[in-house]
Amino acid sequence: MGIHDEDVARVREATDIVAVIGEYVQLKRVGRRWQGLCPFHAEKTPSFSVNAEMGVYHCFGCKASGDAITFLREVEHADFPEAVERLAGRSGIALRYTAPGEGADRQKRGKLTEALEQAVEWYHQRLLTASDAGLARRYLRERGYDGDVVRQYKMGWAPDEWDALAVDLGVGTDKGMPAPVFSDAGLGFRNKGGRIQDSFRARVLFPIFDPSGKPVGFGGRVLPGEEGPKYKNSVDNAVYRKSRVLYGLNWAKQDIVNSAEVIVCEGYTDVIGFAQAGIARAVATCGTALTEDHVRVLRRFAPRIVLAFDADSAGQTAAERFSQWEHAFELEVAVADLPPGADPGDLAQSDPERLVAAVEGAVDFMDFRISRVLGDADLSTVKGQVRAGERASRLVAEHPNPEIRDKYLVDIADRCSVSADHLRGVVRNARRRGPKSASRPAAEEAPHPAAAGYDRGGDRGGYSVYEGNGADGSSDSPPPNNVERQVLWLAAHEPGAVWSEIVPEMIHHPLYRGLFEALLEYPDLDTLLAEAEPRLSALMRELLVYEDEELRSSAHRQEVVIAILMYESARRELAYLERKARTGSADDDLLRRVATLKTAMDKLRESDWQADQARALLELLRPSA
Ligand SMILES: [Zn+2]
Repeated sequence: MGIHDEDVARVREATDIVAVIGEYVQLKRVGRRWQGLCPFHAEKTPSFSVNAEMGVYHCFGCKASGDAITFLREVEHADFPEAVERLAGRSGIALRYTAPGEGADRQKRGKLTEALEQAVEWYHQRLLTASDAGLARRYLRERGYDGDVVRQYKMGWAPDEWDALAVDLGVGTDKGMPAPVFSDAGLGFRNKGGRIQDSFRARVLFPIFDPSGKPVGFGGRVLPGEEGPKYKNSVDNAVYRKSRVLYGLNWAKQDIVNSAEVIVCEGYTDVIGFAQAGIARAVATCGTALTEDHVRVLRRFAPRIVLAFDADSAGQTAAERFSQWEHAFELEVAVADLPPGADPGDLAQSDPERLVAAVEGAVDFMDFRISRVLGDADLSTVKGQVRAGERASRLVAEHPNPEIRDKYLVDIADRCSVSADHLRGVVRNARRRGPKSASRPAAEEAPHPAAAGYDRGGDRGGYSVYEGNGADGSSDSPPPNNVERQVLWLAAHEPGAVWSEIVPEMIHHPLYRGLFEALLEYPDLDTLLAEAEPRLSALMRELLVYEDEELRSSAHRQEVVIAILMYESARRELAYLERKARTGSADDDLLRRVATLKTAMDKLRESDWQADQARALLELLRPSA
């Protein structure tokens, strides 16, 4: 069900991606690509790049990437057919749909949105004017919400009747709203007696909007003293998914982008409280814990998340998830310094200045966790100090950056009066055992001897491909100063430079090896971009929009890159053989192979990375060898 694949392909081909993106972002030509400030995250120096020939974009800052269709979807919050239709309109392509009456899905969603709009308005008017809403109005006034606040957030009142909304909207009647639309929008349901009933009854309603301001659902609160769960939310449907929806994002997005920070809290009244205290960048999850989907949405708007709920009560699993997200999304997570047990909504009423201070005094998430561990510990004995220091250090071991790890360690050592060297040992052990050790980039542990020749990255100790934009890989990808990445860049831009004898096994990092395999597997780049696993096509787009003039134009550098790949591959093979030899299974063949490899590696290094020596090494490494 959808638009014909061929038509989508035609639209992609006919679309000038630079012109499309140029309507939103000022793009400047830099060499072969186009560059500008990323529309998906706040930045002052451009890290957003477009490759016009391949029709793809990639941001080295927030990792947003895709083609013209993805771009429209993200920037306009459009769905796939909508985006394709708009692009088809630009290039005058008539679309064919795979089923008659197509666009049905989208039409349906449009109807649900309309139904929700009507309901929002109906409930809102009911709160403002109906006599049965008196208690609700009083409750809201007591919370400090005057008429302006009620109107701004479009709050509503669901009367204490079982089908007031359904009756007023004429659900199921000839001229009214069709019953399936009413129930699919989450507004009501057919009860056991076969009659249509409202979903919300005797509750103050907080309508929830998507980032573009379309209503998607409601959160309903009972009045104090009434029965039933305090909050009830819309159930998941075609327009409302609680794992993704964030209350308040439609109002807060501008401030979030401007301040490069988003505050995440747990309740509708917290969001409103923050805004009343002058902080307009808060959003709330709707009856669920923060999910990865939420984080993915928020990351498009800001690189820093301040948690404004009891992060402790969220538990250890949550803490680990936050840490992973920090790495995976290059996010900064901080914890607001709320007084114990306080909720932001109440604090906004009783002491708004304290709420502002809580955000300003937010501490970095790792610091928060370390302080928790040390706070719980008995630091009055040497034994207690050592134990606390070790526990805190194991938290630090989760952090991928060695320099930052060391900064924390020195601090912990100081606070526990334990030697920093001892704690460094703890971290080393924890990282060796850690579950993520398998995917940890090799470059971090063993800088390559040849690196010196290309070392422009300063303290990185490697040949830096990415100068200037400060971008680093996500947790899934190794650091950018990586020869394997350069080989893949060559495969994308200068495929002739990559010898056909090179096999995926010669590439160490799983992500890079995966892309190399995909390059061999798919007939061309377009197919790869369209069909490969998302992480592989994303990496491909990243490589496509990256320009390395020097590598492109210097045959010598290309040879050196290939030579170093051979050397690295040989080094791993050698390590494997030596391990085997040590465990006693050494036979003459194995020892001979070790010697041959060593000699060839030495020759390659002494030749200053000559191609013929690299080829000699390649011959030794080929699977048949
Ligand atoms: Zn970006």
